[in-house]
Amino acid sequence: MHESATETPSNGSSDHRFFADPNEPRNDSVDLKAIEAAVRVILGAVGEDPDREGLLETPARVARMYAEMFAGLKSDPGRHLAKVFTENYDEIVLVRDISFCSMCEHHLLPFTGKAHIAYLPSGKVVGLSKLARVVEEVARRPQVQERLTQTVADLIEDRLSARGVAVVVESTHSCMTMRGVRKPGSLCLTSAMRGAFRDDPMSRAEVLGLINRVG
Ligand SMILES: [Zn+2]
Repeated sequence: MHESATETPSNGSSDHRFFADPNEPRNDSVDLKAIEAAVRVILGAVGEDPDREGLLETPARVARMYAEMFAGLKSDPGRHLAKVFTENYDEIVLVRDISFCSMCEHHLLPFTGKAHIAYLPSGKVVGLSKLARVVEEVARRPQVQERLTQTVADLIEDRLSARGVAVVVESTHSCMTMRGVRKPGSLCLTSAMRGAFRDDPMSRAEVLGLINRVG
């Protein structure tokens, strides 16, 4: 997402607007000016000169970036699951490899990866792209991967009355790869099982087989 050419400032503290796409999360409470001031302080604190040419626009740029990364903080990702279709289909629905980028709330560093979502409908199905919308929006807030995984699973179980939900998330955490223990290539895997996928070993094995299938 980029800075939109059709920005429509509403007030001084919240003059960021992205595309007027209702599917895009929007967080109007982001205070860009306060972020800019804070970034200037950080630059000075690490020994930089915030007024040198290369850094002049950095605080504003970082502020817009945070506004984008945290755009999902105040929105309800479940709104994407409001429109459902009645279908007799009662077998597994699986969407694999939904890429996302989120922000680790412990270090404010990105973690990026893929989510795999499966559910067992109970007469109601949802547009497949909506599952990706949910992931996208839940990811756009200060996060930990464990909570992201559970939030997505709970939303789908709740809003679709799904008989079973399986969410598996795999991602690489910058805070693991570029600082601290510095382990590039390490992968963090989390899963949340609900309903039949939690209670029935056969159903769980089936869905995990589909998620892990190569190719
Ligand atoms: Zn971290």
